[in-house]
Amino acid sequence: MSAEKPQTLLSLDREELEARVIALGGRSFHARIARENVLAKGLLDYAQMTSLPAGLREALRAELPILAGSESARSVAADKTTKLLIAFPQAKAARDVSVETVHMPSLYEAEEGEHVPGATLCVSTQAGCPVGCPFCASGQLGLARNLEAHEILEQYVRGRALGPLARSVVMGMGEPLLNYTALATALDAVHDEMGLGSRKVTVSTVGFPERLRELAPQKPRFQLAISLHTPDQEQRDLLVPAMKGVPIEDVLAAGDDWFQKTGREITYEYVLLGRDNDSLGHAERLAQRLRGRRCTVNLIPFNPVEGSPFKRPGSREVEFFRAELEAEGIIATVRWSRGLESDSACGQLRLRNAR
Ligand code: SAH
Ligand code: SF4
Repeated sequence: MSAEKPQTLLSLDREELEARVIALGGRSFHARIARENVLAKGLLDYAQMTSLPAGLREALRAELPILAGSESARSVAADKTTKLLIAFPQAKAARDVSVETVHMPSLYEAEEGEHVPGATLCVSTQAGCPVGCPFCASGQLGLARNLEAHEILEQYVRGRALGPLARSVVMGMGEPLLNYTALATALDAVHDEMGLGSRKVTVSTVGFPERLRELAPQKPRFQLAISLHTPDQEQRDLLVPAMKGVPIEDVLAAGDDWFQKTGREITYEYVLLGRDNDSLGHAERLAQRLRGRRCTVNLIPFNPVEGSPFKRPGSREVEFFRAELEAEGIIATVRWSRGLESDSACGQLRLRNAR
């Protein structure tokens, strides 16, 4: 069953939006102004768009919603990390879906070392995820459907409404490279119309080698992070089921190709699972795999998911692992999850609501 595309300001392309604005009594350039008001200025109410004629504002308000989704849950942690659960109505699939977007306000340290005010927004690309990693809440739910480009963009618009964005990470629900066309369309708007540069956006993927090779020659729209999680093939086959049988060396070689073609260094992500992949032997073998590569390892201590058999490592183990990598000449950072008390690991708010 295929439903009509929702008629919203964000879902219409340029020509469609112009035609719609003209049909409502406006001029074609009013379409651009309306979009600018939403994407560049963060306005979510036509009444505030005073650069549009009053009659058109009224007509737009009655006829053309700005956003397709609705906020179905919100949790705010003590550190002001805000997690939104956004419900999107049926698009091409036959059911409503919910996805998570997380807004993490902070002073973050930019690459150059200076501090920049603003939030990091974590966005989703799919409702659920087909990759099936056993430690991940999104993986447990399977894939409901891909998000449309406007639904990805809507997360940025809703995030922006919570406060200015300095960075974004595409690390929410879903595997970005399995919905890349929609993601690329959304990221173009984020770059061109919201002004978030491609170096401020990081896309995290399990690293399908052939897809990475297709992307490498293109103008980079983002920084790349590859979820590796272990130096051992057998273990990766278990931790990242959809990559079963894809040699780790092929993933790393595709990463090298990306780095050579784009000149952008890669971050390798490593979820630290207590007593599963956090031994010093793992650190040594990981260092061997990465030796000679210009990259950073980002260690993510496992964020407990209800019903999951994995354990969060202690801070001492995390520090030993990091120190071992550093001793082997590999730069490693640790990312403790923000807002843990509010189910902040991606997919967890939705998992809780689904139960
Ligand atoms: N599908 C992509 C992007 C979304 S997941 C990917 O896997 O890279 C983003 C990151 O969060 C991944 O590195 C993933 O391994 C990590 N992650 C997932 N569940 C987690 C959990 N429960 N605790 C800590 N990190 C988790
Ligand atoms: Fe999908 Fe990433 Fe979760 Fe794995 S970790 S199931 S790839 S969202």
